[in-house]
Amino acid sequence: MHRLNQVLLAMDRLVGADLAGWLAHGGGTGLARALDHPAGVIGVLAEADLRGMGGAGFPTHRKWAFVAAAGGSGGDRYVVCNGNEDEPGTFKDRFLLEHAPHQVIEGALIAATAVGANHVILYVNPHQTEALRTCREAVAQWLDHPLLARLAAQLGGAVTLAVVPSSGLYIGGEETAVVATIEGGFPFPRKKPPYPGQSGIRGAPTLINNTETLAHVPHILREGAAWYRDLGVGAACGTKLYSLSGDVLRPGLYELPMGTTLEDLIFSFGGGMLQGKEFKAVFTGGPSNTLLTKRDLDVPLDFESVRERRSRLGTGAMIVISEGTSIVRKVAEYVQFFADGSCGQCPPCKGGTFQLARLIHRIDTGRGIRADLEALENLCRILPGSGRCGLIDGAVTVVDSSLHTFREEYESHLLGR
Ligand code: SF4
Repeated sequence: MHRLNQVLLAMDRLVGADLAGWLAHGGGTGLARALDHPAGVIGVLAEADLRGMGGAGFPTHRKWAFVAAAGGSGGDRYVVCNGNEDEPGTFKDRFLLEHAPHQVIEGALIAATAVGANHVILYVNPHQTEALRTCREAVAQWLDHPLLARLAAQLGGAVTLAVVPSSGLYIGGEETAVVATIEGGFPFPRKKPPYPGQSGIRGAPTLINNTETLAHVPHILREGAAWYRDLGVGAACGTKLYSLSGDVLRPGLYELPMGTTLEDLIFSFGGGMLQGKEFKAVFTGGPSNTLLTKRDLDVPLDFESVRERRSRLGTGAMIVISEGTSIVRKVAEYVQFFADGSCGQCPPCKGGTFQLARLIHRIDTGRGIRADLEALENLCRILPGSGRCGLIDGAVTVVDSSLHTFREEYESHLLGR
């Protein structure tokens, strides 16, 4: 079992909305260093190999460099902390916003320093009322802080720092939907390019980062890139939050070295399966990725290793399923979640998710026929890539993956079996 390295969840730093408490535990040092050498911040993140923790694992420094270079100098520029988090089984960002909002705000202010942004927004899911409250209290404390005044002086004008509630809808976390919501509209994703980094809020370059990504940044600036890299296992760098749920003895939020194995997470830190239960599979990174099974327990949980098993680390959500739990029933729940979450702009997504949900429900309730399985397979072939955002692909992936790995289970549900 690997050591427990806590960077984000170190208990003495979880001070809620108390800025003085955060500063007393080293908070503010990273931002002060960034203000001393703004041009060096992106290089430090590159050396640390910090990745986007919201799903894709895209290198953070490349995203920041893209926004820093967009639109020439002058004019408005935005940094948005994406705290929309609404996927089943994911609860890491809510925890950070409730218990460590100053880590997140400091990370966002360092981002503003690096890309030259004069507007910083915490975009928070309104259903997470406690997170919304702590963020508002935390922001109010930063408004009078000398470090914010230093940033404003450096940028040559006022800096705004605000909390904006998201729509609370799943698609509201997609980056173009984030922009639409902050502009006051419905969170309809739009086609890319242009990316928000080029043309985001009111046409201005906009950097959108996941909450956890930003929470890592103050520590990297304070302790250095080499220190952060060493926290990971093998070639993996830093730490990662994992939202562990399902049929495990100790579900919860774990911060572990990036590269900890799936087996260690579930059977060592998570305490193993519930009494009398046997491991069957895990929905990795939430319900929109390929299922991992017993033969994948040795996989190191980092972006590349999980991708090699044809899945994705995603947000780090791990929903553990035991033998005796119906995969068909679980997939039916998740596909219904996607069907309900479709915004309806793209006909293949609107009709496709509805049809996937209808077919799986029929099979799950013992009314399916063999042709329904063939229809599911056909939909899994033709639907990917047919929407403006990734929702349709997520719905297809969970169906396709479960059909591939647990086909016998689907067949055993068919009429007459
Ligand atoms: Fe909306 Fe679905 Fe199209 Fe995404 S793929 S924009 S959720 S209809």
